[in-house]
Amino acid sequence: SSTPAPHLPRMSVYHYLFPFKRYKSKHRTRFLYYPDPNLDKPSFIDGLTGRFVTRGQVEEQAKKLATGLKRKGIQRGEVGCIFGMNSLEWVNACFGSQALGAIVSPANYAYTPDELLHQLRDSTASFAFVQPSLLPVFLKALELDPKYTIAEDRIILLCSKAEKAALAENHEGSGGVKAEWLEKFPCTEEIWDTPGTPARLQDGMEERTAYLCYSSGTTGRGKGVETSHHNITSQIQAFNCSYEPIKYKDVILAMLPFSHIYGLTVTLHQPLTVNGTVVILPKFEEASVLKAIERFKVTWALVVPPMLIALLHSPNVAKHDISTIRGFMSGAAPLSSDLIHAFERKYPHIKVTQGYGLTETSPVSHVMTLEESKGHDGHIGRVLPTYQARLVDQESGKDVEKGQRGELWLRGPSVMKGYWRNQEATSGVFALGGWFKTGDVATVDNNGYFSIVDRVKELIKYKGFQVPPAELEALLLTHPEVTDVGVIGIYSKAEATELPRAYVVPAGGLASLPTTEAKQEFSEKIVKWVSDKVANHKRLRGGVILLDVVPKSPSGKILRKDLRARAVKEEEEG
Ligand code: AMP
Repeated sequence: SSTPAPHLPRMSVYHYLFPFKRYKSKHRTRFLYYPDPNLDKPSFIDGLTGRFVTRGQVEEQAKKLATGLKRKGIQRGEVGCIFGMNSLEWVNACFGSQALGAIVSPANYAYTPDELLHQLRDSTASFAFVQPSLLPVFLKALELDPKYTIAEDRIILLCSKAEKAALAENHEGSGGVKAEWLEKFPCTEEIWDTPGTPARLQDGMEERTAYLCYSSGTTGRGKGVETSHHNITSQIQAFNCSYEPIKYKDVILAMLPFSHIYGLTVTLHQPLTVNGTVVILPKFEEASVLKAIERFKVTWALVVPPMLIALLHSPNVAKHDISTIRGFMSGAAPLSSDLIHAFERKYPHIKVTQGYGLTETSPVSHVMTLEESKGHDGHIGRVLPTYQARLVDQESGKDVEKGQRGELWLRGPSVMKGYWRNQEATSGVFALGGWFKTGDVATVDNNGYFSIVDRVKELIKYKGFQVPPAELEALLLTHPEVTDVGVIGIYSKAEATELPRAYVVPAGGLASLPTTEAKQEFSEKIVKWVSDKVANHKRLRGGVILLDVVPKSPSGKILRKDLRARAVKEEEEG
């Protein structure tokens, strides 16, 4: 990379973000990118209500929560799950846990009890923050496994005192929340305690695990990605010094879930280092997004491609003043050049840039600058400083010739430590020399611009969310009328996303369903059955196709390539 290497601090995430009392100006200019530490500036605003916390309050409240957690007997190094939509309390839960030196394991709010239990158990979570409306799912998850438990006094509600009081008045309308739960579980604010000093930086702290976000990686079920303090701080340093998209004056829209590394690093952590203002929304919902942009004069938003499609075709955008927006950064899934150009034609004042990364790389390894976004062709930009990249031929294990396709391998200080307590999976993704194998296939041109052209790992992405096919396959095999199955993603241009599709061998073979109607009925039954059992983003929106045998290699591996080729043909034939 042509940009100079950034300084890489050796400290915890918490001390990196809130350093100014401890480190004098010389250090500050090396770590942080804003002119003055204005403690009274709003750092996070609730985009629905306008409630906000200032920079000073974020720090103060984190320390208070850390002290409260400590009083409950929770110690540094313990794992705490955060299960809820983006909110001011989410921010507090995260930084409070970090101030204590605990490990944060954020869970997707769309999870079913089964999916949540997998993460809770696998991460060995011993305390949890839960959004009140998600309590039924959370408590159901605990019920599913009597051997695993979180003590009741270690469950904390993600809401303010005022919201809790309002809920207590009217809990019937809130999705099965019981009055006794509201009495039993305190909210974050209720356990705040007079702050002591946050966990001191100790030798080696920066190498400890700060976050466990869940990713299926190249194969199988979700695994805890061990993101160290150093992974996060070096990511932000690299991001800021190379690209600096988000600045002091920026107002950033945070509607991507904090539970995914993209929302976590880029919208929850990075803005604090430039003292920007973050407007939080619980999810992407067009009306509230447009309202928030107008009301808070949003200048910058982090998006996934389907959000751009929605805004491109929406008749409501014209009814709002969105002139303050200067840029959108898209990531987490491929963004086509057609879509970028269509968007920029319709909204000429908004630049769209693209970044690429993975949970395992904390996340951004490639990003393009605003200038580079002009008239570009869908590439993902250059390698961020601190990263080294190789394109490797999968068969020979050698670097490919310039211009050829190869699997993207990455190395650098933001690459994860490994998968949590899973040595086998960790060894599977690291090559000799510490290179991390992304499972994505890329090319690079003479200017150093990379393009993602294929994916060799199983993973499917629906609107930026991970859908591990192995998980859906395992589930489908428990259906009494399914003998075999292979799940892949098919691309929908209209929605700018992949859709999960299952190729299913029915129990009696194809012959047992002789008519088109019988086949259709069976397929629809399977789609519905899956919908009732998985998080919304994992539904079989690409449909179910019936066949006699799932193509497999001699060793029994599903030949997803063959299924994908078949799907492309099916799409062409309509
Ligand atoms: P996750 O760990 O959920 O962030 O998923 C990482 C995967 O998302 C990558 O390995 C890619 O397959 C895909 N991905 C992320 N960003 C992009 C992008 N800009 N273009 C294409 N694929 C992407």
